[in-house]
Amino acid sequence: MWYNRCMENEINIPKTLQQAILQYADEDKCLELLMMARWPDGVIKCPYCEGEAVGFVRSRRLFQCKRIGCRKQFSIKVGTYMEDSPLKLSTWLPAMWLITNAKNGISSYEISRSLDVTQKTAWFMLHRIRLSFGNIDTSDMSGTVECDETYIGGLEKNKHECKKAKNGRGSVGKECVMALLERGDSNKKSRAVC
Ligand SMILES: [Zn+2]
Repeated sequence: MWYNRCMENEINIPKTLQQAILQYADEDKCLELLMMARWPDGVIKCPYCEGEAVGFVRSRRLFQCKRIGCRKQFSIKVGTYMEDSPLKLSTWLPAMWLITNAKNGISSYEISRSLDVTQKTAWFMLHRIRLSFGNIDTSDMSGTVECDETYIGGLEKNKHECKKAKNGRGSVGKECVMALLERGDSNKKSRAVC
């Protein structure tokens, strides 16, 4: 997931929501960050044909596949949970920060208030970001790995077992999110995967 890769690559992870909003205010900087996360080796791949001959239309922030027979244009959002959304990266990134940093889960109402977007928009982002949590890649984790879990999208904040969310009222629309923490040492940074 891009955010985790950002955390590995970027030194200046925002510590507060205000910092996150400021840091992610510039659309070009957001794009740069996402490009580093998505294509860490710097080779941009076309999501349609996997071709590596790709140009960039700076004025529209779009990539252009140069492969004959494809030649499709695509944005950084194509193939991610941000696909088909007109929302700016400068809205998505603070939302992602907010959701990742809400230890006890966060509601669309809270996101709406914090980011000054409508509740509908907040719900949409929350839903999409939650979906992206479904893909946990633990294949390259090693050493001491700790596990924690939390809920996203619910109001009951004090439950800590996945099972509980399945029972009783208020569990609809709630999701248990597992987070794995790979402990670092002198040679390795700690890393979290959601
Ligand atoms: Zn292509």
